This record gives sequence, structure tokens and C-alpha cells, in this order.
Amino acid sequence: DSESNIEELEILIKSINILGEKLKYQDMLRKRLISDISHEIRTPLNVLQNNLEAMMDNVLPITTDRLNCLNEEVIRFGKLLNNLDILKEFESEGIKLNFERTSLDELVKDVCKDFYMAAENKNIELYYNIEPDKDYIIMADKDKLKQVFINLISNALKFTKKDGKISIDLYSGNKNIIVKIKDNGIGIKKEDLPFIFERLYRGDRSRNQTVGNGIGLTVVKNILQLHSASIDVESEEGKGTVFSVFFNK
Ligand code: ADP
Repeated sequence: DSESNIEELEILIKSINILGEKLKYQDMLRKRLISDISHEIRTPLNVLQNNLEAMMDNVLPITTDRLNCLNEEVIRFGKLLNNLDILKEFESEGIKLNFERTSLDELVKDVCKDFYMAAENKNIELYYNIEPDKDYIIMADKDKLKQVFINLISNALKFTKKDGKISIDLYSGNKNIIVKIKDNGIGIKKEDLPFIFERLYRGDRSRNQTVGNGIGLTVVKNILQLHSASIDVESEEGKGTVFSVFFNK
């Protein structure tokens, strides 16, 4: 009997240890998130400050190109804040979705419109192709779903070099409506692929310096889940990346 007591005690100790590890892990994630976010804010802020000061001191001539670049930094700020807002709603588990009948084709078109300028500035071709004569009505929270495509398309732009190409395809399968976001940019390392949707929740830091904070794709995945939709990624380093989003019909 005393033997089984000892056994129970050992099990208890083990679970306490596991709990301790989990809390340590949570604490580490929280700290990492904060440092990621301050980094994410400081970098564009430095770019803005340095450039603006140089322009004011007449060290840098004020050109449309330069103003465009600075404006992009400001836009990126806005995107980060939107994502953090959504993330906060998820964390506080009180996220309220406002489902309504939504034309997916219109929604994606609206998002694309906001990126034509940025694409042109980077000399990237951005195409939007819709398979015609299909029904693209789904139930969705428009604002949240927009954020999904904003994140995916802005990533495509961010990780594609000058003179690249991005295409967004919308078509209808037997059971699904599918949106593909395809770029011919830098691609994703094979070993990073399984983790890109959960980097935020991962313990060890990827050594890849181009890998960011992972807030964008975490938000993408969470929002899609609430729409009973799923997302897939295929990518080859140096060749490009395709994200496919599947909505139930
Ligand atoms: P962030 O862009 O802030 O780093 P995301 O969650 O949006 O966070 O993306 C996580 C990571 O996934 C990126 O840092 C990048 O390494 C990779 N990634 C996402 N989209 C692409 C893409 N289209 N091409 C190459 N890498 C990508």
C-alpha cells in the first residue's frame, strides 16, 4: 500500500513539474511576444525618423519614391495594430464574429485594390483571376475575413522581389470555394514550413533572420477556423509560395 502511495506521489510530482514547465513556457512566450512587438514597432519608427530628419536637413531630396516608402512603413504599422487588436480578442476568448452573407469575389477584389499601388511601387505584377459564372456567396465576418487576405497578400508582396509576380485566383470546386495566393518570391525553407502558422506558439526561435514574428499567420489561421475554412501552404525556397484557402460550400 505504501508502495502505491509513493507511486501516486511520484505521479503528482511529475505533474507539478510539467505544470511548472508549462508556466515557464507561457512566460517565455509572453516575453518573446512583447520583445517581438517592440522590435516590430521600433524598426519602422527608426526608418521614418531617420528619413524624415534627413529630408528636413536637406540631406535627402524629397522624392515621390521616398515618400511612398515611408508611407508603406506607416501602412505596415496600421496592419500590425489591426492584427494585435484581433489577437487580443482571441486571447480574451471573447471574440464576437458578425456573420453576414458575403460575396467572396467582391471582398477579395476590394482587398486587391488596396495593394495595386504598393505592387506597382515595387514593380510587381498583381493579378486577380475569378472563374466566371460561379456563386461565391459565403457567410462571413467581412472585416475579419478581409484581414486574412490583407495578411496573405501583404506577405506575398513583402517576400517577393522587384519584378516579381503575384496572382490571386478564386474558383469553385465540388465542395469548396478556393482562393489561391501565389507568388514567385523567396519561398519558405522546408524545415520552417510546418511551423509558419504557429510560430507565435513555438518554443525555440527560428535562426532564420527573415522570419518575422508570426502574428499575421496566427491571426489568419484563427479567423479561418472560425469560418470553418482551412488553409494550406506549398512553397519552394527561391521559387515561391502558394497559400490556398478552402471555404465550405
Ligand atoms: P510576419 O510577416 O510578421 O513575419 P507572418 O505570420 O505573417 O508574420 O508570417 C510568418 C513567416 O512566414 C514570415 O516571417 C515568413 O518567414 C513566412 N512567410 C509568410 N508568407 C510568406 C511568403 N508569401 N513568402 C515567403 N515567406 C512567407
